[in-house]
Amino acid sequence: MTTLTASRPHHTDSRVEREHGFSCRACAAPLSATFVDLGMSPLCNTQIAPDQLHEMEPFYPLRAYVCGRCFLVQLQEFVSPDNIFTEYAYFSSYSTSWVDHARRYVDMAIQRFALGPQAKVMELASNDGYLLQHFVRRQVPVLGIEPAANVAKAAIEKGIPTTIRFFGRTAADDIAREHGRPDLLLGNNVLAHVPDLNDFVAGMKRLLAPNGVITMEFPHLLRLMAENQFDTIYHEHFSYFSFVAVEKVFARHGLAMFDVEELPTHGGSLRIFARHVDNEALPVGERVPALRQREIAEGFLTLEHYSGFGARVNETKRRLLSFLIDAKQRGKTVVGYGAPGKGNTLLNYCGIRTDFLDFTVDANPYKQGKFTPGTRIPILAPDKIRESRPDYVLILPWNLKDEISRAVAYIGDWGGRFVVPIPEVRVL
Ligand SMILES: [Zn+2]
Repeated sequence: MTTLTASRPHHTDSRVEREHGFSCRACAAPLSATFVDLGMSPLCNTQIAPDQLHEMEPFYPLRAYVCGRCFLVQLQEFVSPDNIFTEYAYFSSYSTSWVDHARRYVDMAIQRFALGPQAKVMELASNDGYLLQHFVRRQVPVLGIEPAANVAKAAIEKGIPTTIRFFGRTAADDIAREHGRPDLLLGNNVLAHVPDLNDFVAGMKRLLAPNGVITMEFPHLLRLMAENQFDTIYHEHFSYFSFVAVEKVFARHGLAMFDVEELPTHGGSLRIFARHVDNEALPVGERVPALRQREIAEGFLTLEHYSGFGARVNETKRRLLSFLIDAKQRGKTVVGYGAPGKGNTLLNYCGIRTDFLDFTVDANPYKQGKFTPGTRIPILAPDKIRESRPDYVLILPWNLKDEISRAVAYIGDWGGRFVVPIPEVRVL
């Protein structure tokens, strides 16, 4: 849920790219086909403090391209990962469903890969230790690799060894020298956040033990497109992967997929299993060719497949605004639930401010008392909903709608209703 990227002098690079056109971060082909253009948007995870309300805020183009050669859907990099990630507001442990997901993963990995006290597990973007803590409890040695000092500090305080740094080839060599090579190298919701994708994947190749396994989870482009999840596009997410696109990136660095699972997390994710290409002790399971064929059959290797997405996104905006305009004209009150990155893409793209949403709430105390970027909607503590008795609660992290609608079920006491915006506006 956090990211991890190699630091590089990208300000100069970006300026050059802007003057000369963009190129694909995976294969370097020139990028010209637009996947979707969401206009100008501020950085989605930069909440505004009260004393910043009178200041201007930078907005950047939020336009996703699709590469005509390798079909990686991607944004260009406008902002340094150093700026985005050295202090990160997302503590993974705040989401109980995510911590449970991590525990189930650890149970699976320990059993499937026979990990014990002699093994070594490393996690890229280990955040506050939400996942590695489960390995520690089961006596499997771990190392977290996390660039955001504030969340890494929380992990270290919990007794989870963590090195604070961005990952790439150089970091991989240093870590291998200081800590050895991992039998399991994992990263959840990090690959999408990597601007220098080739340096990152090359680093994994260099760090992994000869018989080691890599697992990574990231949102699946197939589900993003099928379910209209355009709000998961924001500046911190540089890449949006189909299986065929990610497989090409790994193959370029001598890593082969040997299994893949489709998961319900984050609106539909992939969990890929990779190994060194010459490690045939781990045979390729049937799910790998099956998913590859399914994506090819759906058109993921043709530009035409990507061309209708923008029009569907425009239609979603019109429908959400129609609902909100109608609710306000009937004198109803609407508030938000959550202040996730995806909510900010939605609010900014649709132009939803306090004219529609009185406030939003978030369980993360780090965000409370601040304002959403760009739209400047106050972020309050969840109790505020009980106090103000709104008619509608718009659930911004729609992937957690079941968890949230259970936790806030009391809005039914006064006839309040939940609304989800994605895949289409629906009153629950
Ligand atoms: Zn490409």
